[in-house]
Amino acid sequence: MTIRCEIESIDYLNQDTRRVILRTPHHIEFHAGQYLEIVLPDRRCPFSIASKPKDDNLIELHIRPTGDSEDSDLIENLLDTERVVDIQLPLGECFVDTLPTGPLLLIAASTGVTQMKSIVEHLHEVGFTHEIFLYWGVLKEEDIYLRSTCEAWSKTNSNFFFAPVISEPTLSPSWTGRTGLVGKVALDDLFVTPGSKYRKVSMDKFSVYISGGPGMVYATTDLFVEIGLPINNIYSDMFALAPRSVLKTQ
Ligand SMILES: Cc1cc2nc3c(=O)[nH]c(=O)nc-3n(C[C@H](O)[C@H](O)[C@H](O)COP(=O)(O)OP(=O)(O)OC[C@H]3O[C@@H](n4cnc5c(N)ncnc54)[C@H](O)[C@@H]3O)c2cc1C
Repeated sequence: MTIRCEIESIDYLNQDTRRVILRTPHHIEFHAGQYLEIVLPDRRCPFSIASKPKDDNLIELHIRPTGDSEDSDLIENLLDTERVVDIQLPLGECFVDTLPTGPLLLIAASTGVTQMKSIVEHLHEVGFTHEIFLYWGVLKEEDIYLRSTCEAWSKTNSNFFFAPVISEPTLSPSWTGRTGLVGKVALDDLFVTPGSKYRKVSMDKFSVYISGGPGMVYATTDLFVEIGLPINNIYSDMFALAPRSVLKTQ
């Protein structure tokens, strides 16, 4: 079903990523972690829902332009010129509807953090008591556009742990935090580095959610499966949207 929404507001979260608030004509049910599609005349573009499920008619999106992309150019033009937008939702099977029975590891690349924001805010609201680890990988420091939000979650929720990770430290000379590929950094921190908190805890208690492009999602999945995490504990929209069998034949 296509729903026409008003664009309630648009503001910049950093140099290029825009927060877009849509007002839907009526309340729409979705689960934390689901996405919607913006409907254009000849195509649809997916965007994760950043807001948690709630009783109002507002939906938050974070939209970042990508270079050399006709889809992205069309979306940017729509945001610059239109007051209404058509959407389809709810979409995606990688969501949280029942409370996980163990800790959660959320691994996001770039705007993949949008999906995690909805999940974290939902779990905080319902009083989830297991640990939530959010590892967010970006190219450079300025890309951590939700840093103060994530740090505020750490301060107000003792079970929430936030680790931003930068993959190109040469672009951020003053960065003193974690560097490398986000999935590998998370794996080393939690399960490999001697003295890590969870080293002796059964890994199969963890649920791992991964958000990003297919290359990042499958590389991260392989790392965790290699060290013994059951594949059924790993969740990503890419498993349905870009199945590995299809990628291999391309
Ligand atoms: C399920 C899904 C959710 C998406 N959510 C967002 C979003 O919240 N904000 C946004 O700016 N773009 C998001 N995208 C990407 C967005 O749809 C495209 O950037 C846009 O349609 C332009 O198409 P493209 O082929 O040029 O980009 P693509 O090459 O498809 O994507 C480029 C950028 O989108 C990011 N991206 C890819 N997959 C996801 C994902 N699952 N979740 C979040 N980011 C992703 C990548 O890290 C990269 O920065 C999402 C894509 C998918 C499949």
